[in-house]
Amino acid sequence: MANRSIVGVVPSTRTLEGGGFEVRRPFPTTRVDHVDPFLLLDEMGPQLHAPGAAKGAPDHPHRGFETVTYLLEGTFEHADSMGSRGVLQPGDVQWMTAGSGVIHSEMPTKEFQASGGRLHGFQLWVNLPARDKMMRPRYQDVPSARIPVVEHDGVRVKVIAGEALGTKAVIDTRIPILYLHVTLQPGAVLETAVPEDHNAFVYVFRGAANAGPEERALVEGDMAVLARDGDSLILRNPGEAPLDALVLGAVPLREPVARYGPFVMNTREEIVAAFDDYHAGRFGKIAAQVG
Ligand code: FE
Repeated sequence: MANRSIVGVVPSTRTLEGGGFEVRRPFPTTRVDHVDPFLLLDEMGPQLHAPGAAKGAPDHPHRGFETVTYLLEGTFEHADSMGSRGVLQPGDVQWMTAGSGVIHSEMPTKEFQASGGRLHGFQLWVNLPARDKMMRPRYQDVPSARIPVVEHDGVRVKVIAGEALGTKAVIDTRIPILYLHVTLQPGAVLETAVPEDHNAFVYVFRGAANAGPEERALVEGDMAVLARDGDSLILRNPGEAPLDALVLGAVPLREPVARYGPFVMNTREEIVAAFDDYHAGRFGKIAAQVG
């Protein structure tokens, strides 16, 4: 395998999102708009919430892309206009394909809001190819216990999408996507396949890393974009503490991106149509909970 080199390292920015929760955002920023087909990556927290202080994102629409939530700490409840409702626990993933449109809410559970506690997780936005933008919305709620984990020599890889070290993910994606949560103990080294046709990056969220054959130094909050010059990634933990990182990759769509708030389409006309449909109530609404 040829290890990919690093084309650039981008530090993330701190920002406030939704109902006012703190996120660390590698992109979009003024420096990186998107990494085709990835449109956004937000690290929510880690943030300690006092009782009554935890916030979420109340009812809002999406069309034309996918939102992927991966929770590490805390509990989140989601409800949507398709009638689904569920709770995400630490380690769980929700892969939502908004397609033609949904309205959903993403809130800490009532119990969590009351008790307070630590909240930590990720939200990733994945663009859909033009042919899938108006597909019927679908959900894949995957509990942590169903997500495969591979471990060897101080290396732990949770395979959320794609394949790593001979283990395949259970989540089905519209285009080939690699989504790994990698944990390396001090001194551990991971070498894993990243298909040659994938745009890919590493996001470090705990500890420090050396990435690529050039051993580029990364600190917490850094995103390292990989060059398209190989078919694998090499990542080391040079530190004294565990390293946690996400590895993301996908075949780029190479299609025009028209993006406005919660809608991501190919043309401005399609964005206008999304607003019209939304305001005309054609996204449906979240049914009130009974009982
Ligand atoms: Fe959302």
